[in-house]
Amino acid sequence: DVVIDARDLVKTYDTGTVQVQALRGVNLQVRRGEMVAIMGPSGCGKTTLLNCLSGLDEFDSGTVLIAGHDIAHMPDDRKTEFRAREMGFVFQTYNLLPVLSAVENVELPLIVSGTKPKEAREKALQALDRVNLRAWANQRPGQLSGGQRQRVTIARALVNHPSIVWADEPTGALDSKTANEIMDLIVELNATEQQTCVIVTHDPKVAARCHRTIHMADGVIVREYSREAMRALV
Ligand code: ADP
Ligand code: ADP
Repeated sequence: DVVIDARDLVKTYDTGTVQVQALRGVNLQVRRGEMVAIMGPSGCGKTTLLNCLSGLDEFDSGTVLIAGHDIAHMPDDRKTEFRAREMGFVFQTYNLLPVLSAVENVELPLIVSGTKPKEAREKALQALDRVNLRAWANQRPGQLSGGQRQRVTIARALVNHPSIVWADEPTGALDSKTANEIMDLIVELNATEQQTCVIVTHDPKVAARCHRTIHMADGVIVREYSREAMRALV
């Protein structure tokens, strides 16, 4: 049951003066419920790949099917709706809106996908409960610690029960103890909700908790490691 199917992805950034080939023919299949880490040196194309797979960014050639849907060729409004319903995003720098409270941030994907405000609030509070942050529901991001902010991001990513969660350096801004707690949470939610997770990370300990690790270099996938192989490395 392949939920992410990317074939021959090529992506070039044209900066006017130089052309950067960020992806030079990437092939990747991810099964439903699988947790995959993407590693590789800075600049090798990890974030670009994540953004092309999730429909945040356009690519030059190749195909991406998400649960059979060709999102690159969806009209923008359908794509926005599809992403809000089917995907959750967890980024290193939280991407929380500073003027909104935790619960208001968490309910945003529900509002975007047309849920009524009262139901959205209820579901957002339940999601905050799952990350043990219900008591902080009315605090703004600035009043929370880094680990708490990342838990809010995770609650927001999961509030819609999306089929795929994309995470770009989800633990990159956290100390190692907090990073471990965030990974406990992601692993637990992946196991209980059958979510497919794709995690860009520099941390081999994070990768060792995923089912599979993909190693990129210079715009292509160069190696794959099983969880057992990654565990032997850390
Ligand atoms: P990684 O996530 O592995 O660090 P990126 O996907 O961010 O790699 O970048 C891949 C390559 O594309 C790098 O050479 C980077 O400088 C370049 N790049 C990324 N984003 C842009 C952009 N918006 N404009 C031009 N070049 C970019
Ligand atoms: P990371 O390495 O954590 O993936 P980067 O620091 O490479 O992220 O990139 C941060 C942002 O800057 C991204 O939005 C990326 O698209 C952009 N970017 C990266 N490299 C370039 C570049 N050479 N020119 C323009 N924008 C870039």
